[in-house]
Amino acid sequence: MHKEALFGKTLDEIRQVVLSLGLPAYTATQIAYWLYKTDITTFDDMTNVSKKVRSLLAGHFEFGVKAPVKVNESADGTKKYLFTAGNGKFIEAAYIPDGKRHTLCVSSQVGCKMGCLFCMTGKQGFQGHLSAGEILNQLRSIPERKLMTNIVYMGMGEPFDNLDAVMQSQEILTAEYGFAISVRKVTVSTIGIVPAMRVFLEKSKCNLAVSLHTPFEDERRRLMPIQNVYPLRDVIATIQEYDIGRYRRVSFEYIMFKGVNDTRRHVNELARLLNKVKSRINLIRFHPIPGTPLMCSDEATILDFQQALNDKGIVTTLRASRGQDIEAACGLLSTKELVKAQK
Ligand code: SF4
Repeated sequence: MHKEALFGKTLDEIRQVVLSLGLPAYTATQIAYWLYKTDITTFDDMTNVSKKVRSLLAGHFEFGVKAPVKVNESADGTKKYLFTAGNGKFIEAAYIPDGKRHTLCVSSQVGCKMGCLFCMTGKQGFQGHLSAGEILNQLRSIPERKLMTNIVYMGMGEPFDNLDAVMQSQEILTAEYGFAISVRKVTVSTIGIVPAMRVFLEKSKCNLAVSLHTPFEDERRRLMPIQNVYPLRDVIATIQEYDIGRYRRVSFEYIMFKGVNDTRRHVNELARLLNKVKSRINLIRFHPIPGTPLMCSDEATILDFQQALNDKGIVTTLRASRGQDIEAACGLLSTKELVKAQK
């Protein structure tokens, strides 16, 4: 019999479970503590819960925490964890240490249906949504979990194509009963699915990152088919409707592609487009992936592009290129495992 996982449920949902099993309401808080604040992985280890309650829970539910099946470590300390996601499918999470900052990049779907030209996950196609528990498991089950200062939803999948699970995982991530991570330290990255973005901006206080990649709509359409459905101008207009700056940070992700989006023309248009948006641009070096003609801009071009944006008053960051030696490009490791599993 397939049992539902308890890990990944909100405190309210755990209360409902507890009441449906005829247990006292306070048991819910005890269970949430064991699920989200400890390292245990079985009901048997819930030592302040009676044996009778533990076996009742085990009879109806599975605990729901799963260890990664593989880890690749890069020379720079970046680690890529691979998890199974049912039936020979895989997802990955990247741990990126950087001084006092420890970031975990989590996946929200198995594969992705959005088909961005530059993305390995997109080439896998869509294979399923992750539950809130499967998203949170990427944090809960790795040795560095207690070090983590920042969580970014930038792994495999488009988070806003799996909105309910992403919102639920965020609640648990930031709630006192859950992982108690500050909303300021959690960022969800989207290619700009406007209706879901609105729900997020209304209900969550976490940070938002939008994949921009070029300010010109025709060019963006070639890189990201979503442009046909939700044009960049609508994405930006939506962001402008909300009082962003006071509570959270909005950033735009901009992967640098050689000869495609790295000219002065792009700088000028970005400045015009983001003129009234309180935001920053994160410039990202492109990790080449198989089967695409795209290449990363030259280092000198990237630095020049960044300076030109700064001169226009746009705040930018340029991320260090991390984990190149461990298939750090989004979806590369899981794609390789998928291919192996299918052999
Ligand atoms: Fe999907 Fe993100 Fe890859 Fe686009 S970049 S295909 S949205 S995972």
